[in-house]
Amino acid sequence: MFCKNCGKEISDYAYVCPNCGVKTESALADNSSGTKKTNVLAIVGLILSFVIPIAGLICSIIARKQCAERGEGGAGLALAGLIISIVEMCIVLLYIIIVFAVAGSLVSSLSLATTVL
Ligand SMILES: [Zn+2]
Repeated sequence: MFCKNCGKEISDYAYVCPNCGVKTESALADNSSGTKKTNVLAIVGLILSFVIPIAGLICSIIARKQCAERGEGGAGLALAGLIISIVEMCIVLLYIIIVFAVAGSLVSSLSLATTVL
């Protein structure tokens, strides 16, 4: 392609014209088409939400803030990580409650049996 400022032939992949230093059309098109940089923390948070929900939750919250502040992509990813982390923590919490409830009823029935005997 040719630089629209000075008319010199430059690389199609050039972001800045080496001759005059003006931003090329591909650089401008890249900005307007919304090819945003994806927030790395959003991806990390999403992965962590499956492994360590609490760490995934924290990462996703920070990633959402960073996406808003820097205009980076990945806000959707961060939201997914956030939801998955919360859901997973609820499941874990529910599991703990069930275990305690079962253990509790076992203990009470055992103590009942010993008092009867
Ligand atoms: Zn130029």
